[in-house]
Amino acid sequence: MNDEYTPDEAPQDENYAPAPGFSTLSVHAGATPDPTTGARATPIYQTTSFVFEDVDHAASLFDLRAFGNIYTRITNPTTAVLEQRVAALEGGTAALGVASGHAAQMLVMHTLMQPGDEFIASNKLYGGSINQFNHSFKNFGWIVKWADPDNPASFEAAITPKTKAIFMESIANPGGVVCDIEAIAAVAHAHNIPLIVDNTLATPYLVQPFAWGADIVVHSATKFLGGHGNSMGGIIVDGGTFNWMADDRYPMLSKPRPEYNGVVLGETFGNFAFAIACRVLGLRDLGPAISPFNSFMITTGIETLPLRMQRHSDNALAVAQHLWQQPSVSWVSYPGLANDKYNALAQKYCPMGCGGVFTFGLRGGYDAGLNLVKNVKLFSHLANVGDTRSLIIHPASTTHRQLSDEQKITAGAGPDVVRLSVGIEDVQDIIADLDQAMAASV
Ligand SMILES: *Cc1c(COP(=O)(O)O)cnc(C)c1O
Repeated sequence: MNDEYTPDEAPQDENYAPAPGFSTLSVHAGATPDPTTGARATPIYQTTSFVFEDVDHAASLFDLRAFGNIYTRITNPTTAVLEQRVAALEGGTAALGVASGHAAQMLVMHTLMQPGDEFIASNKLYGGSINQFNHSFKNFGWIVKWADPDNPASFEAAITPKTKAIFMESIANPGGVVCDIEAIAAVAHAHNIPLIVDNTLATPYLVQPFAWGADIVVHSATKFLGGHGNSMGGIIVDGGTFNWMADDRYPMLSKPRPEYNGVVLGETFGNFAFAIACRVLGLRDLGPAISPFNSFMITTGIETLPLRMQRHSDNALAVAQHLWQQPSVSWVSYPGLANDKYNALAQKYCPMGCGGVFTFGLRGGYDAGLNLVKNVKLFSHLANVGDTRSLIIHPASTTHRQLSDEQKITAGAGPDVVRLSVGIEDVQDIIADLDQAMAASV
């Protein structure tokens, strides 16, 4: 299941070759020509189940004594390529591909939390995650406490003996916020709590959370990893750094599992035990498997990840600088701008660029935002981010329309706010489209 691609294990002798670079890993990690047919692109193993070699092989797979494929809800060879590729790009020990970013978050928490336990989340998060944590997770008895990533001490203040995890985004949705991973990791580790980083908007091309102390990374692969707005997916990456056996706070990992002959996952699977637990407990029992076809689409998308992320970032910076100079624009929130509040953190965590997603404000308020969305032609008006195409949304009239005016402002979705996900088209065409739409709006 996990023949990890681990370039760091290259022998340190005269034959030593340097670890492959990020672009090489983006194209190759986890993939070899198909042993049966020689197919160079990863075949789509569009099957539900896999024939056992014999009865002993079947028994060993069900006992977790051997790695292999049983059923596509739990493992699939097309998905394994996606998993190994993202693990290599993030610098983790293993990964697990699932149906969506939300499924990834659910399985991570299912592995860490017991009913009545608490976790602390950054209050600068994707709106869907705020809902998932506040409402659906509450039904499982997992209690969220909110903290402010601009003030890492607020995480420390929220810790209780029941705190099992800290959750944050690296570059926070709706863009424009770079969070201080190293400072928040220091708080987490001082209290023996694992840090989970949602690296969706940054991707490992821009930010490497494990290098700054994250223990677990999650992605909505629906966004920049897949990158073409065509496939839902999610990924969990195990950093291999956290000691689950230190005490009995993580029983899914540290206690014998009755359904697997009493195996203790944290003992048997060492530094990739977390990924295994998410797979053989959470994915097996809760069931949000990714389709092999979607794994194929997302893996293909990742081959161009470094090219796309650089272009998204360069285009977004140019668009942000242009908007900044427009009289109809009152503010622009993009950390790549030299005078931005988050510019110092951006230089530390994402020196190559700040990604494609950000917000800005229109002096004309609600009506100006609505008119801009009506008048764009190249931009698509929709709720996603991370597509090759440029995307636009006016949160106050769409994603956040149910909130009161005051709640909208707190959530960064005031009446004047417009969110862009800048695509990889020619930047002059992107800018021209915004200019004509703003001119038509007044
Ligand atoms: C979209 C998104 C998610 C949820 O992912 P889905 O694939 O839509 O389930 C989680 N986190 C962030 C930052 C996102 O942008």
